[in-house]
This record gives sequence, structure tokens and C-alpha cells, in this order.
Amino acid sequence: MLPYKLVYHERYDLNLGEHVFPSKKYQWLRDRLARTRFAEPEDFVAPEPATDADILLAHDAEWVAKLRSGTLSYQDILRLEIPYSRQMVEAFWLAAGGSILAARLALRDGVGFNIGGGFHHAFPAHGEGFCAVNDIAIAIRRLQQDGAIRRAMVVDCDVHHGNGTAAIFSGDDSVFTLSIHQANNYPSEKPLSSLDIHLADGVGDTDYLHRLGNGYRAALAMFEPELIVYVAGADPYQEDQLGGLSLTKNGLIERDRKVFEEARRVGIPVVTTLAGGYARRVEDTVRIHVNTIVTAREVAKMYPAASAAAN
Ligand SMILES: [Zn+2]
Repeated sequence: MLPYKLVYHERYDLNLGEHVFPSKKYQWLRDRLARTRFAEPEDFVAPEPATDADILLAHDAEWVAKLRSGTLSYQDILRLEIPYSRQMVEAFWLAAGGSILAARLALRDGVGFNIGGGFHHAFPAHGEGFCAVNDIAIAIRRLQQDGAIRRAMVVDCDVHHGNGTAAIFSGDDSVFTLSIHQANNYPSEKPLSSLDIHLADGVGDTDYLHRLGNGYRAALAMFEPELIVYVAGADPYQEDQLGGLSLTKNGLIERDRKVFEEARRVGIPVVTTLAGGYARRVEDTVRIHVNTIVTAREVAKMYPAASAAAN
């Protein structure tokens, strides 16, 4: 048994057909973890879909109604960059429910994983960049409303800027948003996060880890969150089709280790969401996500006492 749960639902697949976003990756990841016996069947838990009330904690009623009723405009669908289907909407509600559940489990176990989610480009009143609703913001707001946490930090390491998350929490002192991303990439407009680390094209492991480490440690020292939401995008990888950084698979493991270790040392629970990953070989994307889950276990073993402090 793993020392944490893996939140997963077979209907996480966004039903995109041939698309650069391999949304079947969730199932492939789950199958790989099971096949290699890294995880047992009882390590997986299935979420309920978020309720509309949960979604409305981060989104405008009009946008939620459009998604629910299938009345998106042509412009809405162009911005979303994925085809509309009932199954797609259901998958986003499940992903948000998954991040809520994984965040609750992180408070209990010190570590929580959603084998999905990380839809950081969704704004309050529209979706874009393959993201219809922002599960990261919904989970934080749900736990705040429940009185489970007051302060949260988002550590967004997807290669693309966390524009939707930054916009949702703009002016909200209870949530610190950190985004480390390629400057010269989508989205062209980058609303201010609490801390933005803009990287030049082609930045590799050493520079990346140095910049992330400095920013992350400074953020933790000044903010003291009760929960960290780690957006563990696989797309800073050097062979990503939509990314322009040059991290290796080992560099990405070191990135994961840094995020988990710093949090663990000070006893802050971490919930992880997957976000993007568009490697030329989809096996690479799956492997990078597997590595994140494996690294969390290594760090949990190395710092066993820290989770007790978090509870
Ligand atoms: Zn991305």
C-alpha cells in the first residue's frame, strides 16, 4: 500500500479524439501504475463530480450555465481549443471533484494526488487552452469554505503560465500563486501571479532548478501556507511539442523532489495535479507523470515525521 491515495476516475478522459492533448494519458498512467505493481487496486479512490456550487466558487454563473446547457458560442469553443461534448463537461466536473478529494486527502496524509486536473488556463468567465473549469481554484476555495484551510499556495511548474489561476486569485491575500514558465509561449497575456518566474527559451535543468529553488523558498518563507497545490505539468520536457524549455526527465524528477522536499521539511501538505504534457512520444509524458508519483513516495519515506505536523 502506498502512504497516500491516488485519486482517479475512468471518465477523466476528455473524449478529444485525435488531438495534441492526449487525454487518454490518465488511463494509461493508471494502467502503468497498476501493471508495474507500484500501486495496488486499493491505492486508487474515485471522486464524485464537483457540484455546481463547488464550480461556482471560482466561476461565473453564466459560464457554468453555458457549459451545462451546451450553449457555447463559436468564439468560446475557439478559445477553449477542444471540441464540446457532454462527456468533456462531465470529465471537467469529475477532475474538479478529484482535486477537491485529493486536497482533503493531502490534509489527512500529507500527500494527495489527482491523476488528472491542473486546468490552470480556465478563467472565471471563460475557458481557454484546453481548460474549461479551474479545478485548482475550485479545490482551494472549497477547502477554505469548509474551514479546512485558510491559506494556500499554488506552485505551477507547467511550461505555460498559470493565467487563469492568477486571474482568479488576483487581489486574494489568502492564496499565493507562483508560476514558473517559458516567457515566450502561450498565453501571450500573463496576468500577474504573486510570483512569476519568466524563463528564456531553451532553459535547461541547472538554471531551471536554481530559479525554482530560489523563488519557492522565498515564497514559503514569506507566506506560510497550510496547503500547497503543485501543478506538475510534464511539458517543460525538452521533447515537448508545445514547450520550448530543455529539461530532461532527470531534471523533472529533481524539480518534483524540490517541490515535495521543501514542503515536507516544514510540514506543509502537498496536493498534486497533472496539467499539460505533449511529448512527441506519449510514453514520455506518461513516464514523467509516473516519476512525479514515485518521487513523492521517496520523499515521504525520507521525511516520515513531517506529515504528522501537517495534520
Ligand atoms: Zn502546459
